[in-house]
Amino acid sequence: MNVYLDNNATTKIDDIVFEEMTAFLKENYANPSSMYDPARVCANAIEKARQEVADFLGAEDKNTIIFTSCGSESANTAIKGILEKTDKKHIITTQVEHPCVLSVYESLEKKGYSATYLGVDENGELDIEKLLSKITPETALVSVMHANNETGAIYPVEEIAREVKKIDNNIKIFVDGVQAAGKLPINLKDTLIDFYSISGHKFHAPKGVGVLYVKKGNLFEPLIHGGHQEGSLRAGTQNTAYIVAMGAAARLAKANLDYELTHVKRLRDKLEKGILDNVKNARLNSKSQNRTPNTTNIGFEYIEGELILLYLNDLGIFASSGSACTSGSLDPSHVLRAQKTPFTSLHGSIRFSLSRYTTEAEIDYALEHIPSVIKKIVQISPFQKELKALGM
Ligand code: PLP
Repeated sequence: MNVYLDNNATTKIDDIVFEEMTAFLKENYANPSSMYDPARVCANAIEKARQEVADFLGAEDKNTIIFTSCGSESANTAIKGILEKTDKKHIITTQVEHPCVLSVYESLEKKGYSATYLGVDENGELDIEKLLSKITPETALVSVMHANNETGAIYPVEEIAREVKKIDNNIKIFVDGVQAAGKLPINLKDTLIDFYSISGHKFHAPKGVGVLYVKKGNLFEPLIHGGHQEGSLRAGTQNTAYIVAMGAAARLAKANLDYELTHVKRLRDKLEKGILDNVKNARLNSKSQNRTPNTTNIGFEYIEGELILLYLNDLGIFASSGSACTSGSLDPSHVLRAQKTPFTSLHGSIRFSLSRYTTEAEIDYALEHIPSVIKKIVQISPFQKELKALGM
């Protein structure tokens, strides 16, 4: 049996999404900007997808939706584009953002910008009062993710936007919503969030398509200059098939949100409880219930995460340590370090992330095997005394 528990890294393409997009890869390959009928079919399909994404995000209208190539491009577009339109040079963000956000700020710091990186507590939670206290007349941008990719921790981005704008209405709010899309309700028209990014491959569309929501009235400098596509805000011949896929995935994610919040959450809780009850050196990273319904991050004390992943891989169970973007490195996760995860489990932390495709039988299979995998690895740990003290 194969049990894919790495849905925060990427997801399987939904069959309906695949079916709807393939027509635009094979039969209808016209450039949507051309003037003849097949091109108009593509252009109309793009506008339908734009409306589906707007409905999914609860946006004011479809003209707030810009199609991009991925979540990273959406984040780069928002951040760099906002800052190019102002002389202010201070940014407030968190230490737990995704590398596609953090590395932009690190590169901007080298160009004379200053960035405040807020820490989080041991559950990954952010102190909003502290965030507000960091605002200065130089602050141009507040950038907080909606949900964390490694722990699932949810940040109160609607409240943050409201409170920041009370202090200075000119400060722009960018939210990386990549890990929230399809897992949390969002109604952007009822918020003061200016920019919000999502990525198709995190909710059953293919890799290579993203969205940037831009609330009306917000100016930004495009990242990619060229033709007049996407209202001249993102040049490049539109990828009709992937945009259609994004629209279909958004429509399906909206329809399946309740299922995520109930059924997927129940399976996640079953997996989490089953591991914590049966493995004595397991501890939950981010104990808060304020987490995306599909994610659990569990530290196995005194053993190596890479070894756990290899043993699980041999059994057909696929999970990850850290984020997919950084798991090639042996550095402990910046997210777990920011929330002061004890060093005893920092190297042995595993993220399990489910999707609407995860079945009860798969969770039962994982629970049948994980305790014995951990037991095997514990036997070769140099920390026998400490593990015995934990009852292993
Ligand atoms: N933001 C978060 C929170 C993510 O988890 C990811 C992907 O892992 C991204 C942004 C980047 O998205 P993409 O892979 O589409 O560039």
